[in-house]
Amino acid sequence: MKKRTIVKKKHTFVQIFDIEMIVCRTREEITNAVAEVRKANRSLGFVPTMGALHQGHISLVTRSIEENDCTAVSIFVNPTQFNNKNDLLTYPRTVEADLALLENAGVDIAFVPTIEAIYPEGLENVTESYDFGAIGAVMEGAARPGHFNGVGIVVHRLFDLIPADKGYFGMKDFQQIAIIREMVRQSNINIEIIPCPIVREEDGLALSSRNTRLNAEQRVQAVQISQTLFKAVDLVASSTVAEVKAFVENTVNNVPLLEVEYFEVVNGYTMQPISSWDEAEWVVGCITVNVGDVRLIDNIALKNI
Ligand code: AMP
Repeated sequence: MKKRTIVKKKHTFVQIFDIEMIVCRTREEITNAVAEVRKANRSLGFVPTMGALHQGHISLVTRSIEENDCTAVSIFVNPTQFNNKNDLLTYPRTVEADLALLENAGVDIAFVPTIEAIYPEGLENVTESYDFGAIGAVMEGAARPGHFNGVGIVVHRLFDLIPADKGYFGMKDFQQIAIIREMVRQSNINIEIIPCPIVREEDGLALSSRNTRLNAEQRVQAVQISQTLFKAVDLVASSTVAEVKAFVENTVNNVPLLEVEYFEVVNGYTMQPISSWDEAEWVVGCITVNVGDVRLIDNIALKNI
């Protein structure tokens, strides 16, 4: 008698994607998951994050889900982009809550790599070096030596592992988007970079993973960062660039617990500081403020395209 074999119907990842999220930790797992998406001819959106997720991150995720068949999100606190050891050590980590948020949002693939998955050669042997030119020489580039090189390295490696159609980035990290675009251009990567608007608390404070490190008093005063930027917009028509700069720096520095690290008024395309409003079509005011040992960034369009 012929032996009967029972063949169980094997679900592909892509079928499973519709009902649950896959969590990948190794290079092999993420490569296989992405291969399944590609095999099924589905478009893929990708949102890189460092975790401690909030509605700012979720806004990127939601946009990706709207615009793509599948969405992948990475959670990786990237050591090579931290020029300050204490910042790396104190960076909030809430992976379990993050995964629940992502699953609820409808994410298909969560990539939570180990350090070895991203840096198999060992952190001390990472050698890539980017030259982002003038874009990377100002603001965060000047204040955090090596930061953008680390960002370029990790995002390039993530794009290699997750070759998505579109990558989603928040405009809160305004200069970072220009850096990513330049990295993509230099490395000839075929991905569309989608900038997404800043999500704010009701009182105006830009959502940030680092906000959880503010104490109650610092949190109350931190609202003056965005409120001052909003007032600066109203001053543009009647003031010079230097006057707006002085207004923002003085107003924020007058708040006892806030200390301006820099406020620059820049060309939105080149990131270079301008000294008169007609020097650029798109002008953005970018600020970094230290609140105790918490470093917060924010920005606002002062002249729109
Ligand atoms: P991070 O986890 O801080 O590296 O951020 C991951 C991505 O989320 C980056 O593209 C950020 O610009 C973006 N992001 C962070 N905060 C916000 C926010 N408040 N609004 C919009 N995007 C944000």
